[in-house]
Order: sequence, then C-alpha cells, then structure tokens
Amino acid sequence: MKVYMDNAATTPMETDVVNTMKDVMESVHGNPSSIHNAGRKARIVIEDARKRVAQNLKASVGEIFFTSSATESNNTVLFCAIRDLGVKRIISSPTEHPCILNSLKSVQRVFDVDIQFLPVDDKGNIDPDTLDHMLSQSDVLTLVSLMHGNNEIGTMLDLETISKVCQSKRALFHTDAVQTVGKYHIDLSNTPVSFLSASGHKIYGPKGCGIIYINNDNMIGPYINGGGQERTLRSGTENIYGISGFATALDWLCTNRKMHYQHTLSIRKSFIENLQHSGIDYRLNGNQDEKTLSHILSLNVPKTDKTELIMFNLDIHGICASAGSACSSGVESQSHVLDAINMPYDRKTIRFSFSHHNTKEEVAYVVRKLQEIL
Ligand code: PLP
Repeated sequence: MKVYMDNAATTPMETDVVNTMKDVMESVHGNPSSIHNAGRKARIVIEDARKRVAQNLKASVGEIFFTSSATESNNTVLFCAIRDLGVKRIISSPTEHPCILNSLKSVQRVFDVDIQFLPVDDKGNIDPDTLDHMLSQSDVLTLVSLMHGNNEIGTMLDLETISKVCQSKRALFHTDAVQTVGKYHIDLSNTPVSFLSASGHKIYGPKGCGIIYINNDNMIGPYINGGGQERTLRSGTENIYGISGFATALDWLCTNRKMHYQHTLSIRKSFIENLQHSGIDYRLNGNQDEKTLSHILSLNVPKTDKTELIMFNLDIHGICASAGSACSSGVESQSHVLDAINMPYDRKTIRFSFSHHNTKEEVAYVVRKLQEIL
C-alpha cells in the first residue's frame, strides 16, 4: 500500500489545476508585457487569476502580488517593511518557518532593527496580552510577524485577536498563512492584516508560485528589481502557468473548504482513535482543540533504537510522513519548533499530515505499521 501523509510538506495537484495549467501551456505563449495580441492573452491569464485570488481572500485586486514562493513573499515583507516603511522593530516567534527566522537574521545584518521574540507555551501558543504588553513598551514603528498555522505541530494563531491587538497599537501585522489559506476562512476586508503570504503547492496547486497580499495602506517597494512586472513590486517575466494554477487551486479549495476540513478532521480523529487502541506509548504535540490544524497530527514516542530508523521503515512500507519540519524531511536533528516547546530530547516526533484523498483504511494501515515498527 502507498500512503501519502506528508501534505504539510506539499500537496498533490488537483485535476482542475493540472488541466488549467496544461491549457495555458498549450495555448498561451506570449510575454504578458508585450502589447500585441499574444502578449495581451497572457496578461489576461494573470489578471484573471489575480481577480480570483483577491475575491477568495476578500482583498482588492491591487493588493495581490504573485511571487515564486511563500519564502520569497516572507523575505520581501520583512526586508521591504524596514526599508520602505521605516519599521524599527520586529516582533516574531521562535516557532516560525525558517524562511522567517533566517530572513530576520539577514535583515538584522543589513538594517538597524530590533528583533524580539514572543515566548510560546508548551503547545506553541503565544499570549496576546504579552504581545500587547511588548507593543506598549516602545513607540517605534513595529512589524509583528506570526504564522497563522504552524507547519510542524499544527497550533493555530487567533488571527482576529492578534490582528486587532496590532491595530490597536498601530503596529503592522504580517501573517505567514501558508498552512491555512484556502483551508480556513480568511476575510481580509474584515481582518486588519497588513501583509499575508501563501504558497501554491500547499493548496493542491503548483510548486514555484506564491502570493503576497499587501494592504493598500502600507504599500512597499520592490525586493526583486528589473523590468517592472507586478506593478514594479516583483520583476521577472511572470510564471503564467503557475499563476493560473495557483488561482485555480485556491478556487477549488475555497469551494470545497467544508469538505476538506471535515474530511481531514475525521482522518485526524480516526488516527488518534487507532493510536488509543494500539498500545503505542505516544503523546500528541501542539493544541488538541479547535486551535489546531485539521490536517496536521504531530506525535512523539520515547526514543529507542527502534525509533532511530522509523522514517526509513515507514518509507519501506510505502508510507510518506515527516520527522521534523516540512522543509527538512529526512533531517534527524530536533527542530527549532520542538526546541521552542521544550520537547525532551528523549522523545521522537513524527508528523502525519492529511488531505481529502486519505482514507480510514490508510489510517488503520499506518497505525498497524507503527505498532509493528515500535
Ligand atoms: N511557511 C510555512 C508555514 C511553510 O510550511 C512553508 C513550507 O513548508 C513555507 C513558508 C515556505 O513555502 P514555499 O515552499 O512556497 O517557499
């Protein structure tokens, strides 16, 4: 049996997405910057995609920019908010994705900016009151950058509350919504978010295409300079296939959001039920209430010689899961997220992450194999 339970790392593309991209590849070859009819046809693909992305997120069309990845979107926001908006302090958390954490190290080398980290509890939650207090400590323009859903342990941020805390303290607020866009209802017309990043390949779309939402009130300048594409914010000839695939994927996920949520939640619940009857000595990582992502189940077991090769053994049985963070599957050192939630070094974490394609038969098979291996 082949079981793919690594959907937080990347998702398979939906058929609609593949068909749309194939159609664009076959029938649209113009450069979107050209003014002749072939160019105009390519331009229409991009502007139609932008309109659909904006509608799904309840943003204005002018606030959506296409990039190569959420990594690029996150780098752009951190760098340009300092350079163009005068941000002097960034408040983030130790459980952010490496593209935020490494970007913070990088901007600190270039700019005179104060970087502060909020503490997290043993489930990866930050406390809104602590953020409020930290924001009250200084008058300098601050950017708060916090992810909406944690890709390793599934803990979710209360976007409404945090965005309002930032608004009340006149701080800019960026959220890395890679694990939640499309999967959760996000209404940017009613949530005071300054910047939001998302990625195509986590929403059943293509790799190599991301977006940044930039609120009209805090427009920034370019991170990548060149021929002035994306209204000068992000130069480089547009990835029209990726862009059309991104918009189609987001359309599909928003239309099927309820089904996706209920299905992944039922798979998650079934996984836990199977574990409870398995005799495996396990603990769950992160929140286990409504403030957890329905598609992520991160668990830990005591480290033994049997857990050394657990990912390898799962793979032999056709099971794709992840040991550490999504982007370092196969790397065996404890991740920064597990360190931040004080995970003891004698525990071994495994992350299973689900899609609407997973079945309860697969869950039973995976837990049986876990039982055998452990
Ligand atoms: N942010 C989060 C929360 C992620 O899970 C990932 C990918 O694992 C990224 C950012 C990076 O996205 P991309 O692969 O589009 O660069």
